[in-house]
Amino acid sequence: MHVIVLGAGVIGTTTAYYLSQLGYRVTVIDRASDVGDGASFANAGQLSYSFTDALAKPEFLASIPGLLLGRDPGARVRLTPGLMSWGLRFLGQCTTKRAAENTVAVLKTAMRSAKLMTELSQRVPFEFSHRRAGKLVLLGSEAELKAATISNRLKNLHGSDAKILSRAEVNSAEPALERISNEFIAAVYSQNDEVGDSLKFTAGLRKWLEEDDLVTFRLSSTARRIVANDGRAHAVVVDDDTIEADAIVVCMGAWSGHLLRTIGINPHIYPMRGYSITLPSGEASPSMSVTVLKHRMVFSNIDGFIRIAGFADFVGFDSSADTERIRSLLELARQVAPDAARYDSRDIFTWGGFRPMTPSGQPLVGATAVRGLFLNAGHGMLGWTLACSTAYDAAQAVARTQ
Ligand SMILES: Cc1cc2nc3c(=O)[nH]c(=O)nc-3n(C[C@H](O)[C@H](O)[C@H](O)COP(=O)(O)OP(=O)(O)OC[C@H]3O[C@@H](n4cnc5c(N)ncnc54)[C@H](O)[C@@H]3O)c2cc1C
Repeated sequence: MHVIVLGAGVIGTTTAYYLSQLGYRVTVIDRASDVGDGASFANAGQLSYSFTDALAKPEFLASIPGLLLGRDPGARVRLTPGLMSWGLRFLGQCTTKRAAENTVAVLKTAMRSAKLMTELSQRVPFEFSHRRAGKLVLLGSEAELKAATISNRLKNLHGSDAKILSRAEVNSAEPALERISNEFIAAVYSQNDEVGDSLKFTAGLRKWLEEDDLVTFRLSSTARRIVANDGRAHAVVVDDDTIEADAIVVCMGAWSGHLLRTIGINPHIYPMRGYSITLPSGEASPSMSVTVLKHRMVFSNIDGFIRIAGFADFVGFDSSADTERIRSLLELARQVAPDAARYDSRDIFTWGGFRPMTPSGQPLVGATAVRGLFLNAGHGMLGWTLACSTAYDAAQAVARTQ
């Protein structure tokens, strides 16, 4: 049995791992010259098993006029037919009921991911700066505190052990935050959330899979088209070749729709651009992962470096404003946490990536209407967090149909 996995990001590579464990011969195809070249490259690294709150929620509706008028420095929106079609579906998810269902569904997937990540990292020996850092989501207003309290109660009912801490409790749990500007009144604390470098993970897993001859990686190879006959997908056109397979799993993140539309499937995945800046730690760098909700910004401590990530730009696949957006993120970070990083260091790395967003925030995992064709895509803001469980599920879905 030969399975083609399209996309060698954290999702495709982890899917290849679980398929190989089921005994399949696997070929992973990516147009980039190395693995992890898309959104998996320099994301914030947070394994946010407890912070699964859906972006689509009733409170979001109030922020729409400000977003459209460009008044939110953390977001940019360019209205196009593609965004409007996705946006209508997103608005359909902005009800109390759907927000709760989506948050809980992703929480359950994330909690399974935590267990699978522990098993995988014990079984496959490689280093990816993985540690149980704990996570704080800073709440800047009474409204944020109220919403977080309601959401936390719901998540506690479904297995999360996150709790709300007062500002004084936060300062004693994470002393570095005493030196943060006066940004928050309370925080959600999840002690079991982790941090790790998703690029190192993807590269390390690839190396292990190749060394043991379990998976073939065919890089610098662009998938052009999926070939199907009588409602069954059986090959992929890759550059000038046609590669046959018994099953095909699409793990192409934000680009999944490009290929799927060639076979009549629209997965409704929209690219939401975000940015990251990696700097040496400062005098007061938090050891825990920290999210500043108000600014759509996170700080992670990965191997002694501080990675600052954030912003949510709905501008299609346009990356022309990256320099300006990264400058804004840097300035904001400096204001919020002036001692967290050495902001003037020349040892700075900046990056932008496209989060593959579904309207509900739930990834698309499993069989499609076309036999032999499977999806593992649309992980949005949580692809690193959800990688193990969704890859496991995608592999199981392939196995069920054989
Ligand atoms: C700024 C930022 C911060 C983030 N922080 C976090 C975080 O802290 N925690 C978390 O859980 N998640 C985070 N995320 C989200 C996470 O990074 C993504 O959800 C995840 O990386 C998606 O992985 P993927 O493998 O599906 O997609 P990608 O990593 O984008 O991989 C898709 C692959 O498909 C390949 N491809 C595309 N088209 C073709 C083609 N035609 N032929 C062949 N190959 C093709 C690309 O080259 C790419 O390698 C963040 C994202 C961003 C942008």
